[in-house]
Amino acid sequence: MEENKPTLAQLKEQPHYSYTALNTYINICQLLYYYRYIEKVEAERTPVALPFGTAFHSVLSEQAQAAKIGKLMTAEEMTEAFATYFQANCKDAANIVFKRDENIEDQIATAKRMFETVNKEWIDYWNIQSVAEPFRIEMPGLSKPIIGELDMVITEKTPFDGENDKGYDTIVDFKTAARMWSDDKPARDLQATVFSYAFEKVHQRRPSFRFDVVTKTKTPTVKHLYTSRDDDHYLRLEKLFTTADKGIQAGVFLPNESSFACSDCPFADRCSGWHCKENTTISIAA
Ligand code: SF4
Repeated sequence: MEENKPTLAQLKEQPHYSYTALNTYINICQLLYYYRYIEKVEAERTPVALPFGTAFHSVLSEQAQAAKIGKLMTAEEMTEAFATYFQANCKDAANIVFKRDENIEDQIATAKRMFETVNKEWIDYWNIQSVAEPFRIEMPGLSKPIIGELDMVITEKTPFDGENDKGYDTIVDFKTAARMWSDDKPARDLQATVFSYAFEKVHQRRPSFRFDVVTKTKTPTVKHLYTSRDDDHYLRLEKLFTTADKGIQAGVFLPNESSFACSDCPFADRCSGWHCKENTTISIAA
């Protein structure tokens, strides 16, 4: 990251959209978006997967910083760092919910197995261009800029490239998952579209995109899943985001009762009484 560039925390101080927020509105649940991003009410419960994922992500970011200068943290060092982040995240979160028979120690042991697998499969060192690279971009027709952070940007070469070929830019995003992603999931993933679009706006170069997915299973596995985006994807993204923006400005926040998010929803109690409120059409000054 360049010295004079604002950090993600600084970018968050100004009005903005994020991929996570707009994806919540478009693909998960509009009412969940309202509670989290407009009303900003405290969560009734926090599934443990959330602090786990955030802590895991922070450690992989540290690992990427180490790899950038040719080093690699051991799985033990990573686990130690994870335990610190995870315990702090759990302390900060409202009403952490563990699955039956799970506790903090189990989660740390799971993370350790995952780090051992991640390290066996780690492939990037001197080709790392940036780690945790923040961005802020404008999109035509959108009322606020989009901000975010690229986990890692690397330079990759194909087997056909010679020594003098520069290689191509690849955005890498770290993911933890309960089970391994299907091979066709990256092609449909909205985050890859948003982050590729943002990279191209900032760097004026078209990147490739790689999800590094590690499973939380008893025997964790890692997969590097590639995808790419073109002008048509970007055109559709602009239409999708500007239409969602209009819905948000107009105060349209409907519950999506068949959402996968309902089972773990942090606002489930509030949502259950949504239809009983006198004014269920919410008007906001966004
Ligand atoms: S319980 Fe389901 S429908 Fe209600 S806010 Fe949460 S995700 Fe949306």
